[in-house]
Amino acid sequence: MLQNQSITRLLKEPCVADLANLSETFWVNPHKKPCQEALEAAELTLEDVLEASERLERFAPYIRSVFPETQPAGGILESPLREIPRMQKILCDRSGERVQGRWFLKCDSHLPVSGSIKARGGIYEVLCFAEKIAMEEGGLSLDEDYSVLTQERYRKLFSSYSVAVGSTGNLGLSIGIMSAKLGFSVTVHMSADARQWKKDLLRSRGVQVVEYEQDYSLAVTEGRRQAENNPRCHFVDDENSTTLFLGYAVAALRLKAQLEKQKIEVDADHPLFVYLPCGVGGGPGGVAFGLKLVFGDYVHCFFAEPTHAPCMLLGMATGLHHRICVQDIGIDNQTAADGLAVGRPSGFVGRFMEPFMDGCYTVSDENLYRMLALLGETEDLWLEPSALAGMCGPLWLAQDSEREYLVKQGVDGLMEQAVHIPWGTGGSMVPEEDMQQYYQNGKKLLNIQEGGEETF
Ligand SMILES: *Cc1c(COP(=O)(O)O)cnc(C)c1O
Repeated sequence: MLQNQSITRLLKEPCVADLANLSETFWVNPHKKPCQEALEAAELTLEDVLEASERLERFAPYIRSVFPETQPAGGILESPLREIPRMQKILCDRSGERVQGRWFLKCDSHLPVSGSIKARGGIYEVLCFAEKIAMEEGGLSLDEDYSVLTQERYRKLFSSYSVAVGSTGNLGLSIGIMSAKLGFSVTVHMSADARQWKKDLLRSRGVQVVEYEQDYSLAVTEGRRQAENNPRCHFVDDENSTTLFLGYAVAALRLKAQLEKQKIEVDADHPLFVYLPCGVGGGPGGVAFGLKLVFGDYVHCFFAEPTHAPCMLLGMATGLHHRICVQDIGIDNQTAADGLAVGRPSGFVGRFMEPFMDGCYTVSDENLYRMLALLGETEDLWLEPSALAGMCGPLWLAQDSEREYLVKQGVDGLMEQAVHIPWGTGGSMVPEEDMQQYYQNGKKLLNIQEGGEETF
């Protein structure tokens, strides 16, 4: 915990005061650097991301054979990019903002195998671990067809190792499902936020689920501690793993190809804005880093967080990163956005991404539910509450108060040609009844007028 004195001082800063009041806030990052300069100082490079991409291609024959639903895409886990003009219109109508340019949703909600953005980093890290063991002890070679990993001798080899992770739910799903499929013994340490269906699903796949009454940070700490005593256990460290981060970053290479295929330009005249729901930071940070490698200064990235768990914004705005948590300023970290219910940001993502990011903003749980219902009704796309956090980003940029930011970025006159991509991070595996509940909540809220706060 921080000293009382420093907290009192921090709370005098307008941005921190807004966070403490749970107001929806938009924060422009004053530390953003020209992309080239930021990349030169970064410890990770395009080569690292390409290496991750190649590893995923090596595993594609294996993935295709153990997850038949991935056959059409040849064992590559990727999600659609869908234009959402009806959602764009209804959000503009209801908010009174005039957002120019085109809106697309990156549907990571519909990633195969685990139905969330965690199918990128989480699965990638498990595959890395498996490849290392298979090469060192099983004689696997780089140019082999990796579907050999389905053989009993490999499963037996993997079963002598274990994997552990701490999670609010979705990372646990992706690590648990992938690890169990390979034959590892796997333990998921779930925070109190985790939904019951996620725990049930994991147990049905033979995953050991340990439940905590506390939040994410404790589930991770406890998982890490228990794994430490076991040299044959790999702990997936969501707070610090660069492997996870690189797995997420591969998304950018894939998005570039998708944009090209749909003839959507990103260049000096066509800025791209990407809005990423953020929990501990690895997922959105990895994707944003990849986007910077691919599109440089033409892409603008924002992290989106719940008003009750704005850990990344707090860490970046105060410069304290993981040395401060939302509880330090009196926030409870209680949110319907279970995937984002993180009180303390990653130890490295905030600092690593500081020179790249355009900013962060917060969104209330009520507005997450409202957007969930609106997106479902207008586009028939059904996402979990966390996954809607990116959706209202374009509305912030359309406000007069953020004009200065656009001018400073040199995109003020280009917004008509802009492309906006909220990242839809999860939801396709949510059971029907749970989704109905979310939807009904949203519908109810859409009929309630609130004074002052921005609503849709
Ligand atoms: C985990 C998650 C995120 C954010 O990823 P972090 O790596 O925790 O920042 C966003 N949306 C959903 C649905 C998630 O499960």
